[in-house]
Amino acid sequence: MRSVASSRIVGSIGAFDRWNSAGIAAQRPAFVASGWNRRRIMGASQSSRDSSGGPSVSAEGAEFKSVSDTEWKEKLTDEQFYVTRQKGTERAFSGKYWNTKTAGIYECICCGTPLFNSITKFDSGTGWPSYYEVIGNNVKSESDWSIPFMPRTEVKCSKCDAHLGHVFDDGPPPTGKRYCINSASLNLKPSG
Ligand SMILES: [Zn+2]
Repeated sequence: MRSVASSRIVGSIGAFDRWNSAGIAAQRPAFVASGWNRRRIMGASQSSRDSSGGPSVSAEGAEFKSVSDTEWKEKLTDEQFYVTRQKGTERAFSGKYWNTKTAGIYECICCGTPLFNSITKFDSGTGWPSYYEVIGNNVKSESDWSIPFMPRTEVKCSKCDAHLGHVFDDGPPPTGKRYCINSASLNLKPSG
């Protein structure tokens, strides 16, 4: 079972390598630049909307709206809190999952909602775990203008509003999406 699953994943990664060298190099030169640049691209978002109240509350996620920062801090490590509740960004190639190939489901570190299937994970070369698809409607997106002249789309957990990372339109088939996610936002539940 396991070897079948992993050989499929390896096969996929081979295909994405082609995408990776052609696509990223041609369209996103910033991503093949220095590690500092990579960090900068995902970084600098923490200055936005820390205490402005954020978007309107959805009925579904209401149970998490009353969770205070103090309570989140008790549940999370310092880095997990910084990333998920303060829109922080972990350093590239530093997170737990950027190079993980283990089969399983990646859940929200805050509320346990399943967010990404390992089958959709690919090697983006960015140093952050990257996926081309989300599970159901469990991830929502929002415009992020925290870097002037560089509009990005932030992605959050639909249920608890945890900041996860950003989504870009330069991902591989079949979706063409690249969900660039902080490891600190995730908890991998291995399958089998
Ligand atoms: Zn969540």
